[in-house]
Amino acid sequence: MLISLRLKQQELRAMDNRVLVRFWGVRGSVPSPLTAHDVARKKLKILEDYVAAMRSGRYSPMPTPQSFLAEQERETPSTYGGNTSCVEVRYENDIVILDMGTGLRPLGNTLFPEMFARKGLEAYFVLSHVHWDHIQGLPFFGPLYVNKAIGISNRWTFLGGVGWQSTAEICLKGQMDPPTFPVAWKEIEKMTDNITYDDMWDGKSVKLGQATARFGKLNHPQETYGSRLLFPNGKIVVYATDHEPHDPACPYPRLVSLARDADVVITDCQYTKGQYEGAKEEGGVPRHGWGHSYPEAIAAMACEANVKTIVLFHHDPASSDEKIKQMEQYTQKLISSKGGKSKVVAAWEGLELNL
Ligand SMILES: [Zn+2]
Ligand SMILES: [Zn+2]
Repeated sequence: MLISLRLKQQELRAMDNRVLVRFWGVRGSVPSPLTAHDVARKKLKILEDYVAAMRSGRYSPMPTPQSFLAEQERETPSTYGGNTSCVEVRYENDIVILDMGTGLRPLGNTLFPEMFARKGLEAYFVLSHVHWDHIQGLPFFGPLYVNKAIGISNRWTFLGGVGWQSTAEICLKGQMDPPTFPVAWKEIEKMTDNITYDDMWDGKSVKLGQATARFGKLNHPQETYGSRLLFPNGKIVVYATDHEPHDPACPYPRLVSLARDADVVITDCQYTKGQYEGAKEEGGVPRHGWGHSYPEAIAAMACEANVKTIVLFHHDPASSDEKIKQMEQYTQKLISSKGGKSKVVAAWEGLELNL
């Protein structure tokens, strides 16, 4: 029953000719689940707020706990999430997966009903680069282990940079092969109907199903690519994470070119400018050369490129939910102060955008 209901929802989505962007992992560097202390702190704050509301006389009658929770800002009762980079983009039956951080595991689990109903899936995995926070979910992507012997014909295509120390194929094999993982990549290849690899380079265009993708090189300690996806309904989704701005006053031309007039740009916002510069009150450790961005540079880029929605992504593992919320509000303020029209959203696990 649950399976057919989920399938119905997916079919309905596919029929409405819209692009669906779904966020499964939004952290950078390393997975960072909430601690027991974090959860206790959130519970206490909600209880305190509820009691204060009760005493204030603002409500008559008092809202139910459920409706009171629904009124709270997202960061109070919930969390932006702790899984690392993974975004699913769907158009009709096409599946594009942007990076394979630990968010790939829960994404994979939701694909099973569709995979069995369609007797197989075709997905394009676009790897910005192969730092661990962008590939670590692959060994835990459940559909990888469904054997073609039971009539499921899965087709996976992996796209990676040409200038890596190794190719995408070698990097993926190296991650899976014993002793670092118990199931060797050659076993996966035996199970799967079709696995192919494709190269990315600066300026390359390629078809990913019905989408046209163009790649642009970003500024990061490993060769890293942003992707601009154009769909048949005219919508443009850009994924450009793990990027350090050269000069916030002069946005990086390749990034601006990728982001130009896009409906959605998902971009690196790991630090505040103070953290990046090593301000004393923010720990005193400069992050120059670490390959990440901050609100001032993002605001300049969003205005220059005329972006509709900017999604702040690759949150620092040390950032609290409250801090991420502040960075979202601050980035919005910066854009508005420049006369920009971009809407700012801090990515959270479960966020869905329909275009
Ligand atoms: Zn990263
Ligand atoms: Zn990286």
